Parts: sequence; structure tokens; C-alpha cells
Amino acid sequence: TESCLAAIDGADALNAWCAKTPEIALAQAKAADARIKAGDAPGMCGIPLGIKDLFCTRGVATQAASRILAGFKPEYESTVTQNLWDAGAVMLGKVSMDEFAMGSSTETACYGPAVNPWKIDDRQLTPGGSSGGSAAAVAADLCLAATGTDTGGSIRQPAAFTGIVGIKPTYGRVSRWGVVAFASSLDQAGPMTKTVRDAAIMLQAMASVDPKDSTSAEIPVPDFEAALTGDIRGKKIGIPREYRIEGMPEEIGKLWDEGTAMLRDAGAEIVDISLPHTKYALPAYYVIAPAEASSNLARYDGVRYGYRAKLGAGDGIVEMYEKTRAEGFGPEVQRRIMIGTYVLSAGFYDAYYNRARRVRALIKRDFEQVFAAGVDAILTPATPSSAFGLGEMADASPVEMYLNDVFTVTVNLAGLPGISVPVGLDAKGLPMGLQLIGRPWGEGDLLNHALVLE
Ligand code: GLN
Repeated sequence: TESCLAAIDGADALNAWCAKTPEIALAQAKAADARIKAGDAPGMCGIPLGIKDLFCTRGVATQAASRILAGFKPEYESTVTQNLWDAGAVMLGKVSMDEFAMGSSTETACYGPAVNPWKIDDRQLTPGGSSGGSAAAVAADLCLAATGTDTGGSIRQPAAFTGIVGIKPTYGRVSRWGVVAFASSLDQAGPMTKTVRDAAIMLQAMASVDPKDSTSAEIPVPDFEAALTGDIRGKKIGIPREYRIEGMPEEIGKLWDEGTAMLRDAGAEIVDISLPHTKYALPAYYVIAPAEASSNLARYDGVRYGYRAKLGAGDGIVEMYEKTRAEGFGPEVQRRIMIGTYVLSAGFYDAYYNRARRVRALIKRDFEQVFAAGVDAILTPATPSSAFGLGEMADASPVEMYLNDVFTVTVNLAGLPGISVPVGLDAKGLPMGLQLIGRPWGEGDLLNHALVLE
């Protein structure tokens, strides 16, 4: 813990941390020492972590990287972080992210962008997003692991951009209680770690059946580490043809082939599969996620939390709401609120929101059919490129940023577990990741497949 705290102080240039909590860290580390001495050392005992700014931590600033939550210190602890503290983990501080987890580059954070520890010459790169602070902190060895959340790829894409492991569990495996909501039917928290084994241990600690979250599934949490045998002989791996998208860099295709060969060499059977509704996933996601976000973000009104705009003489309550939300939310969040409000409005609800929900059901059915045919895991690229430069997308249309999520959103729409594993470097020397998608509640098996790619 002490060496991580020192490393964090020397790494301000990465802008990964938005709050440092050395007193809490040292007290938790001492308590962990005592537990180890007493012979009671659970899996995460004494492990120093970064906590994404989206998790409510009692008495510690929790801002979702938004100006509108300035000064908010929750009175309560999220279930996930409480589970981690119960398992002996140590909080070094909070790590940055895209505002309200909306983005793929951590550039929408009110703290300014986080920086990828990987560089090309002197060019600064994004660590991805939205869990970019988590990814940068883990990749730069400022903590042993970090929590992330994934609504459409926010654990897996930054993991791929920084050469670390990130798993999004099955929807309902990890409690959402105390995690600031973005899109409630898609959000899921998960670990971001240096190795697959670390991911198994940390997921074990994070996951629980939680009566405080009505979408927490009443399915016991198995021993994920015990599933890591490295034996995948006779397993069936599906390679979905729809993921070979036009314009995909050759290197990504090559990496995908290499990953396929690694699984085949380990004794798995490789089969071509089709997930025919894949091409509708991104548009469906960018209707459903903003719709849910516009509803979730209605609570930020300048009364209950954080920031309130300064008011003029004649201003009443309506002006207070308007000014607070106009000043408190950044441009990407405002865009999502407007899209979401539009697709939910009476005149357009059927044309957009209901249609997107029907598409979502078809995407889910594609996966169900493939798994019913005996496929154990699906291998795809994690991202359509390696890390891009900070500011590089500044003049691009928002849709270009959304294209980052093309391989990851299907998993959230279907509620499945997905993991990103670092598999190689591209010609520029930057890390690239592959994604494995597993059966619902099959995180143990999924992690075991990932072990072979590591
Ligand atoms: N990049 C996606 C978005 O902006 C995913 C975000 C996430 O998973 N939190 O919506």
C-alpha cells in the first residue's frame, strides 16, 4: 500500500486519480496485516485498489466525473465496495472516468482526460473509457487492480487499450446498489486486473446476491479461481462471421486468427457461427442506453445532490433547474439526455425505443441459439483499433466515438459475461485485446478459456 501511494504521487501526469485516500488506505492495510497475522486472510486481504468514481464510498467524494455532483459525499457504501472491504481490500482512492460513464476515452471527465501509460514517441494516448482511470492506474502499476463498470464496453475497451484484463459479469451477478446509474438494464460492475487469475479472485469478492438490488440474481457465487484449470480440451469456440467488419485493420484480423489458433492448439474445437442481428446492436444500444440515462439523470436537479447554479434576481425554481443542469452536465451527457428524452417521447416511443427493445430481444436470441447448439465460448476482437491519440476525435462526429463499442455492446444487450484479454502488440507497439463471450452465469468457464489466451 505504501509503495502504491508513493507511485500514485509520482504519476500526476497520468491524471488517473480524482481523489486520493491515503489515511483510509493505511488504516485498511493495518487491519489487513492484523487479519493475516490472525490467520484470517480472505482473497483480497491487503490488496490496494483504485475505485472508479462511479461507486458510492461513504464519506469520500463520489462525482461520476461530473460537475453536477461536485461536493457530493455519500452517506452510504456501495455493495461492491463493501464486499471488497469485507474481503480485506484497501482503497487507495477514486479513479477517473468519462462523465457518468458516457464515452470511450475518459475525455468527458470533469477532471480533464486520463492518460494511457503506453505512448507512441511522445504522443499521448487515451486509456479508453469510460473506465479509463481504472485502466491507466492498473497498467501503470499504481494499484494492483481497480473496479470498473461496463454498460456498453467500458471495462473491456479500456482494458484492451492498456494491455490489462477486464471482465463484465453476467447481468445480475454483481450488485448495482450504490453504483451511480447510467443505463440500469445494461450496467454491470467488474474487476480490471493484471492477470486472469486476479480477475477470478476479485470477481469472487465483488459478486454477491443482494436484496438491495432487485436485479441481483439469486444465484450463488461459485469459486471462480477453482475453475482455472487451463484445460479447454473438447470445448467448442464459436467465431462469429458478422464481427469481421468492413474496414477493420488487418492487424486486428490477424490477432483474432492468432487467438483462434491458441484455443485450437489447447484442444478446443473451432466452429464458424452466425449472429445475424449483430449489425443492429450499435443503433439499438444508442437508443436504449440514452433512454435509460435520461430517466436516471432526472434526479440531478440542484436540490438533492451536489452542484447548484448561481441564480439571478428574478429566477424561480424552473430557472434553477435549467441553469443547474445546463452548467452541471457536460456536452456528451446533455446530448444523451436529449436523445433519450426524444426516443421516449409519446410521438417517437414506438418508432425508436420499442423497436430497439425488439431488436435487443433478437440479439439475445442469436446468442441463445448458438449456446443451445453447444458452443461454450465466442471469440471476437475487443476493439476495432488500438488506443488512439488524446484529442484525436475532438473534431469527429460523436458517432465515430460510438463506433468503438461495435464489438462490445451486444454482450450488454444480451446480459452475457464478456472478458477482454491482452493478446499482442500492433506494429506501433501498442497492446491489443481479444474478447471472449460466455454463457450466462458461466464466468468461471469464461475465465478458464481466457487463461489460454493470456
Ligand atoms: N462507450 C459506451 C458509451 O459511451 C459505453 C460506456 C459504458 O460502458 N459505460 O455509452
